[in-house]
Amino acid sequence: MSKFSTFLRGCFNNITEFLFPSVCPICGAPVETHGELCGDCWGCFDWIDGPHCARCGYPFPSDYESTKNALCPICASGKSDLDYVRAACIYDDMSRSVMLPFKHGGRIKFARFMSRAMIWAMRDIDIAPDVVMPVPLASRRLFQRGYNQATLLSREISRVHGAPIDFASVRRKYRPNMGHKTHAQRFEHIKGVFKVVKPDKIRGKKILLVDDVMTSGATFSELARVLRRAGADEIYGVVFCRVVRAE
Ligand SMILES: [Zn+2]
Ligand SMILES: [Zn+2]
Repeated sequence: MSKFSTFLRGCFNNITEFLFPSVCPICGAPVETHGELCGDCWGCFDWIDGPHCARCGYPFPSDYESTKNALCPICASGKSDLDYVRAACIYDDMSRSVMLPFKHGGRIKFARFMSRAMIWAMRDIDIAPDVVMPVPLASRRLFQRGYNQATLLSREISRVHGAPIDFASVRRKYRPNMGHKTHAQRFEHIKGVFKVVKPDKIRGKKILLVDDVMTSGATFSELARVLRRAGADEIYGVVFCRVVRAE
């Protein structure tokens, strides 16, 4: 790059910074990097930064003496179609106060810090996805909402992994909201909603699934089952927050 174009770019960055100062997307306090949270807001989330299940990322109590490859009872006992799952933080009042406006109120500017946190959540797993797949929305839902929040979260993750976003290989049928259902009912309700429509894009692929929240794990589990049947090689999942069962 010539000195002149470097100079021009510097001028442009300074003008942009002057016109659009970087502020925390939650509280509006000045921050160094565009889209990042200020320290106070960052400190309000319950980040999963302690010992956790090596496979599904379920957090262990902070005083838990875990070895690097310790598994939770569910992963130790059963077979999952997901090779790894990670979540950035625990679903609580704070994460809910961000998720609801992000998902239903058009606050899409939250996507940047949420996806950065999700990339951080995957720091201990060695994965090289071929594609990043936002959990599909049914077309009726997409039409109502205007955007798929999982696709917004996928952009930065796709860029960091150098893997394209695949939002066309799997379709989702519309089903009315689940409301308050038991764990077993959620798994039953989601069964059969996903259909692989481009199997050649799935076969032999390493796929990173992206969603905003994990409640029972039924959605990831069903999508992974369908992808595995279509010949996916490895399947991982990442969410911004996850529900943690009360001990
Ligand atoms: Zn803030
Ligand atoms: Zn586990």
